[in-house]
Amino acid sequence: METSTALRMGERLLAEHGLTGWRVELDRAKRRAGQCRYADRVISISGPLTRLHDEAEVRETLLHEVAHALAGPRAGHGPRWRAIATRIGSTGERCLSAQAPRVAGAWVGTCPAGHTTERHRRPTRVATCSRCSRVFSLDHVLTWTVDGRPAPMHPSYDAELRSLREGGPVRRVAVGTRVRVLAPGRWHDARGPVVKVGRTRYHVAVRRGVVLAVPMSAVAVEG
Ligand SMILES: [Zn+2]
Ligand SMILES: [Zn+2]
Repeated sequence: METSTALRMGERLLAEHGLTGWRVELDRAKRRAGQCRYADRVISISGPLTRLHDEAEVRETLLHEVAHALAGPRAGHGPRWRAIATRIGSTGERCLSAQAPRVAGAWVGTCPAGHTTERHRRPTRVATCSRCSRVFSLDHVLTWTVDGRPAPMHPSYDAELRSLREGGPVRRVAVGTRVRVLAPGRWHDARGPVVKVGRTRYHVAVRRGVVLAVPMSAVAVEG
Protein backbone atom coordinates (compact mmCIF):
# COMPACT_ATOMS: atom_id res chain seq x y z
CA MET A 1 0.00 0.00 0.00
CA GLU A 2 1.15 3.56 -0.72
CA THR A 3 2.46 5.17 2.45
CA SER A 4 0.65 8.46 1.71
CA THR A 5 -2.66 6.60 1.46
CA ALA A 6 -1.86 4.74 4.68
CA LEU A 7 -1.15 8.02 6.48
CA ARG A 8 -4.47 9.45 5.31
CA MET A 9 -6.26 6.32 6.50
CA GLY A 10 -4.52 6.75 9.86
CA GLU A 11 -5.59 10.39 10.17
CA ARG A 12 -9.18 9.37 9.39
CA LEU A 13 -9.14 6.67 12.06
CA LEU A 14 -7.71 9.07 14.65
CA ALA A 15 -10.50 11.55 13.93
CA GLU A 16 -13.14 8.81 13.92
CA HIS A 17 -12.07 7.67 17.40
CA GLY A 18 -11.78 11.13 18.91
CA LEU A 19 -7.99 11.13 19.22
CA THR A 20 -7.50 14.85 18.79
CA GLY A 21 -3.95 16.03 19.30
CA TRP A 22 -2.60 12.73 17.95
CA ARG A 23 -0.90 12.28 14.61
CA VAL A 24 0.32 9.45 12.40
CA GLU A 25 3.93 9.18 11.26
CA LEU A 26 6.10 6.81 9.29
CA ASP A 27 9.19 5.15 10.69
CA ARG A 28 11.76 2.76 9.27
CA ALA A 29 11.14 -0.25 11.50
CA LYS A 30 11.47 -3.59 9.75
CA ARG A 31 10.34 -5.92 12.49
CA ARG A 32 7.15 -4.32 13.76
CA ALA A 33 4.39 -2.73 11.76
CA GLY A 34 3.25 -0.08 14.21
CA GLN A 35 3.98 1.65 17.46
CA CYS A 36 2.08 3.91 19.84
CA ARG A 37 4.12 6.70 21.48
CA TYR A 38 1.96 8.01 24.29
CA ALA A 39 4.24 10.83 25.43
CA ASP A 40 4.40 12.33 21.93
CA ARG A 41 0.82 11.36 21.00
CA VAL A 42 2.07 9.70 17.88
CA ILE A 43 1.04 6.51 16.16
CA SER A 44 3.95 5.48 14.03
CA ILE A 45 3.78 2.91 11.27
CA SER A 46 6.62 1.20 9.45
CA GLY A 47 7.22 2.60 5.97
CA PRO A 48 8.91 -0.57 4.66
CA LEU A 49 6.19 -2.89 6.02
CA THR A 50 3.33 -0.60 4.97
CA ARG A 51 4.59 -0.76 1.36
CA LEU A 52 4.53 -4.57 1.58
CA HIS A 53 1.16 -4.85 3.29
CA ASP A 54 -2.25 -4.64 1.69
CA GLU A 55 -4.97 -2.26 2.80
CA ALA A 56 -6.56 -4.73 5.24
CA GLU A 57 -3.22 -5.38 6.95
CA VAL A 58 -2.40 -1.69 7.26
CA ARG A 59 -5.87 -1.01 8.62
CA GLU A 60 -5.35 -3.75 11.22
CA THR A 61 -2.00 -2.23 12.22
CA LEU A 62 -3.56 1.23 12.58
CA LEU A 63 -6.56 -0.05 14.57
CA HIS A 64 -4.22 -2.02 16.83
CA GLU A 65 -2.30 1.18 17.66
CA VAL A 66 -5.47 3.31 17.91
CA ALA A 67 -6.66 0.81 20.54
CA HIS A 68 -3.36 1.29 22.43
CA ALA A 69 -3.85 5.06 22.27
CA LEU A 70 -7.40 4.74 23.62
CA ALA A 71 -6.54 2.15 26.28
CA GLY A 72 -3.48 3.95 27.70
CA PRO A 73 0.05 2.70 28.36
CA ARG A 74 -0.79 0.64 31.41
CA ALA A 75 -3.25 -1.56 29.56
CA GLY A 76 -0.56 -3.34 27.55
CA HIS A 77 -2.20 -6.11 25.54
CA GLY A 78 -4.46 -6.99 28.46
CA PRO A 79 -8.25 -7.31 28.60
CA ARG A 80 -8.93 -3.56 28.50
CA TRP A 81 -6.88 -3.09 25.33
CA ARG A 82 -8.38 -6.20 23.75
CA ALA A 83 -11.95 -5.07 24.46
CA ILE A 84 -11.32 -1.69 22.84
CA ALA A 85 -9.45 -3.23 19.92
CA THR A 86 -12.26 -5.62 19.04
CA ARG A 87 -14.90 -2.93 19.54
CA ILE A 88 -13.26 -0.63 16.97
CA GLY A 89 -12.82 -3.42 14.44
CA SER A 90 -9.34 -4.81 15.04
CA THR A 91 -8.80 -8.54 15.51
CA GLY A 92 -7.52 -7.84 19.03
CA GLU A 93 -4.44 -9.91 18.42
CA ARG A 94 -0.97 -8.87 19.48
CA CYS A 95 1.28 -6.85 17.17
CA LEU A 96 2.12 -9.19 14.34
CA SER A 97 3.78 -8.52 11.08
CA ALA A 98 3.13 -10.78 8.12
CA GLN A 99 6.62 -10.28 6.70
CA ALA A 100 8.59 -11.04 9.83
CA PRO A 101 6.23 -12.87 12.17
CA ARG A 102 7.01 -11.82 15.67
CA VAL A 103 4.85 -11.62 18.76
CA ALA A 104 5.30 -8.41 20.69
CA GLY A 105 6.83 -8.80 24.10
CA ALA A 106 4.33 -9.54 26.79
CA TRP A 107 6.40 -7.43 29.20
CA VAL A 108 5.81 -3.72 28.82
CA GLY A 109 7.97 -1.22 30.67
CA THR A 110 6.54 2.30 31.07
CA CYS A 111 8.52 5.34 32.20
CA PRO A 112 6.95 8.20 34.19
CA ALA A 113 6.55 10.16 30.92
CA GLY A 114 4.63 7.31 29.32
CA HIS A 115 7.24 5.94 26.89
CA THR A 116 6.95 2.21 26.56
CA THR A 117 9.34 -0.55 25.69
CA GLU A 118 8.67 -4.25 25.26
CA ARG A 119 10.59 -7.31 26.38
CA HIS A 120 10.03 -10.97 25.83
CA ARG A 121 11.24 -11.97 29.27
CA ARG A 122 10.93 -10.71 32.80
CA PRO A 123 13.58 -8.01 33.22
CA THR A 124 16.17 -9.05 35.78
CA ARG A 125 17.84 -5.66 36.17
CA VAL A 126 16.46 -2.21 36.88
CA ALA A 127 16.30 -0.26 33.61
CA THR A 128 15.49 3.37 32.90
CA CYS A 129 13.95 5.07 29.88
CA SER A 130 16.54 5.61 27.17
CA ARG A 131 14.35 8.20 25.46
CA CYS A 132 14.12 10.38 28.59
CA SER A 133 17.75 9.99 29.58
CA ARG A 134 20.73 8.63 27.71
CA VAL A 135 22.29 7.55 30.96
CA PHE A 136 20.80 5.45 33.72
CA SER A 137 18.59 7.80 35.76
CA LEU A 138 16.43 6.97 38.75
CA ASP A 139 14.00 9.70 37.66
CA HIS A 140 13.08 7.61 34.63
CA VAL A 141 12.76 4.08 35.98
CA LEU A 142 10.60 1.75 33.90
CA THR A 143 7.79 -0.01 35.71
CA TRP A 144 6.73 -3.31 34.23
CA THR A 145 3.41 -4.88 33.39
CA VAL A 146 2.89 -8.33 32.02
CA ASP A 147 -0.11 -8.83 29.76
CA GLY A 148 -1.38 -5.48 30.97
CA ARG A 149 -1.22 -6.24 34.69
CA PRO A 150 1.33 -4.94 37.22
CA ALA A 151 4.12 -7.45 37.20
CA PRO A 152 5.62 -9.13 40.22
CA MET A 153 9.39 -8.77 39.91
CA HIS A 154 12.08 -11.10 41.14
CA PRO A 155 13.25 -10.35 44.73
CA SER A 156 16.74 -9.53 43.41
CA TYR A 157 15.22 -6.90 41.11
CA ASP A 158 13.31 -5.35 44.02
CA ALA A 159 16.50 -5.41 46.11
CA GLU A 160 18.48 -3.68 43.37
CA LEU A 161 15.84 -0.97 42.98
CA ARG A 162 15.69 -0.47 46.74
CA SER A 163 19.43 -0.12 47.06
CA LEU A 164 19.56 2.28 44.11
CA ARG A 165 16.80 4.41 45.64
CA GLU A 166 18.32 4.38 49.11
CA GLY A 167 21.78 4.98 47.74
CA GLY A 168 21.22 8.72 48.11
CA PRO A 169 24.00 10.94 46.79
CA VAL A 170 26.55 9.09 44.73
CA ARG A 171 29.33 7.63 46.81
CA ARG A 172 32.73 7.70 45.17
CA VAL A 173 34.60 4.48 44.88
CA ALA A 174 38.35 4.10 44.63
CA VAL A 175 40.49 3.21 41.64
CA GLY A 176 40.58 -0.55 41.30
CA THR A 177 36.95 -1.10 42.42
CA ARG A 178 35.06 -3.39 40.06
CA VAL A 179 31.87 -1.81 38.76
CA ARG A 180 29.06 -2.63 36.36
CA VAL A 181 27.84 -0.12 33.76
CA LEU A 182 24.14 0.68 34.17
CA ALA A 183 23.86 3.17 31.31
CA PRO A 184 21.78 1.86 28.42
CA GLY A 185 23.41 1.19 25.09
CA ARG A 186 26.18 -0.95 23.74
CA TRP A 187 28.11 -1.18 27.00
CA HIS A 188 25.14 -1.78 29.28
CA ASP A 189 26.05 -4.42 31.85
CA ALA A 190 29.76 -4.32 30.95
CA ARG A 191 32.02 -4.84 33.96
CA GLY A 192 35.50 -3.75 34.80
CA PRO A 193 37.74 -1.93 37.24
CA VAL A 194 37.71 1.83 37.76
CA VAL A 195 41.04 3.08 36.40
CA LYS A 196 40.54 6.77 37.08
CA VAL A 197 38.10 8.86 39.13
CA GLY A 198 37.09 12.08 37.40
CA ARG A 199 35.01 14.91 38.78
CA THR A 200 31.69 13.45 37.64
CA ARG A 201 32.72 10.29 35.84
CA TYR A 202 34.55 7.07 36.42
CA HIS A 203 36.87 5.77 33.77
CA VAL A 204 36.12 2.08 33.57
CA ALA A 205 38.27 -0.44 31.70
CA VAL A 206 35.59 -2.73 30.32
CA ARG A 207 37.87 -4.55 27.93
CA ARG A 208 41.53 -4.48 26.99
CA GLY A 209 42.05 -1.14 25.26
CA VAL A 210 38.50 0.08 25.94
CA VAL A 211 38.07 2.64 28.71
CA LEU A 212 34.65 4.23 29.11
CA ALA A 213 33.97 7.51 30.88
CA VAL A 214 30.74 6.70 32.71
CA PRO A 215 28.70 9.13 34.84
CA MET A 216 29.04 8.16 38.49
CA SER A 217 25.31 7.63 38.81
CA ALA A 218 25.44 5.13 35.95
CA VAL A 219 27.61 2.48 37.57
CA ALA A 220 26.90 -0.09 40.27
CA VAL A 221 29.61 -1.49 42.50
CA GLU A 222 30.01 -5.20 41.93
CA GLY A 223 29.18 -7.08 45.10
ZN1 LIG B 1 0.44 -3.72 20.56
ZN1 LIG C 1 10.67 8.14 28.85
